[in-house]
Amino acid sequence: MSDQANPFRIAQQQFDTAAELLNLHPDIRAVLRVPQRELTVNFPVRLDDGSVQMFTGYRVQHNLGRGPVKGGIRYHPSVDLDEVRALAMWMTWKCALVNIPYGGAKGGVIVDPRQLSLAELERLTRRFASDVSILLGPEKDIPAPDVNTNAQIMAWIMDTISMHRGYTVPAVITGKPIQVGGSLGRIEATGRGVSLMVREAVHKQGRALEGLRVVVQGFGNVGSTAALLLHEMGCQVIGVADAAGAYYCASGLDIPAMRTYSDRHTFRLLQGYEAPHMVPITGTELLELECDVLIPAALENQLTGANAARVRAGMVVEGANGPTTPAADAILTARGIPVVPDILANAGGVIVSYFEWVQGLQEFFWDEHDINSKLERILVNAFEEVWQLAASRALPLRTAAYLLAVQRVAEANATRGVYP
Ligand code: NAD
Repeated sequence: MSDQANPFRIAQQQFDTAAELLNLHPDIRAVLRVPQRELTVNFPVRLDDGSVQMFTGYRVQHNLGRGPVKGGIRYHPSVDLDEVRALAMWMTWKCALVNIPYGGAKGGVIVDPRQLSLAELERLTRRFASDVSILLGPEKDIPAPDVNTNAQIMAWIMDTISMHRGYTVPAVITGKPIQVGGSLGRIEATGRGVSLMVREAVHKQGRALEGLRVVVQGFGNVGSTAALLLHEMGCQVIGVADAAGAYYCASGLDIPAMRTYSDRHTFRLLQGYEAPHMVPITGTELLELECDVLIPAALENQLTGANAARVRAGMVVEGANGPTTPAADAILTARGIPVVPDILANAGGVIVSYFEWVQGLQEFFWDEHDINSKLERILVNAFEEVWQLAASRALPLRTAAYLLAVQRVAEANATRGVYP
């Protein structure tokens, strides 16, 4: 993989830009530039036919300076250590930006879960959880869902850790089903946050949400929720894509119907969905549709030096982690297209994960209105801070967000000092 497409090199490059502008001390730069802990596990899983297959997984903890670490677990064939390192580092900045008391972590297993039966998926999950359990705990490292993992998988992880300990440990993981200590509003939280960030950014531009043309890449947890909420706010979602296809309708797609369809699909895909006036397009075409807001909500490296010049969106709001490379960032900035960065735009998930962890530790649960209004307050405040800093120093939003986040993490680490 070229350095330009390597997510960890990209994450380091983004950090270097902030460190330079903050004039960070070289010692603290050296600490923050690399993950603190990395665990690789190779583990066997018995398949339904009786054979055994080996899998590889990772858990990376980037920085523990501000508290226990937090970050999702991803199941995908293209997971690798550098991707997990990048995602862990981005989590550190995200938690600091929205000022919740965590450092960043991430985990992943190299697997296409669609190739496994449900029983095999459960055995893989429990064995991976068991192998990385030396790192996990409510006071140490608290995972959550990410690409291709969901509430059921979180429940299996919680149960596995609880079996090891001999008692139920709800706060070891977030994104759990409600009946085993999950938080109301957690499933929708990331997409809800994305929709709030669209609302705030659009208002800053003096525009209304009504009739706003939105394109969403990725129709999973984040993308489909953001699409649905923006549809409910009066936007016209004119294009969406998932791993199997992309769909366009100039007058606006029927997002509630598409969501119902994909919810019923075995792999949560839109494959086979049909509607009048809707036409299939390619994934490449989707990213280049003329629209007001483009929301990449799938994987990294979607907007690159190769296609950023052809993006015809008025604004990009990053639902996914790392969807825009630094080369694309430079092109979009030069073209005057603002990018609301991932560490802000998709922070809703970790904020409500934080609420879930607090509720689990206290065994005291809040109502959904409480959760959504606290989420909104934190996110809107963070947006305002980023927007003001960007405006006052004529910086791109990503750089402003990094300055705030990296400064907080650097201060925490400097205050704690170098042990021993
Ligand atoms: P998910 O597995 O629920 O959905 C991923 C979606 O992307 C699916 O619809 C899939 O079909 C689609 N997809 C995959 N490859 C694609 C491609 N090449 N083109 C178009 N679509 C493609 O995952 P998710 O939880 O929605 O996560 C999506 C992104 O959001 C990831 O970058 C993740 O790290 C980030 N994120 C997730 C959360 C969360 O709470 N789940 C929080 C913060 C950030």
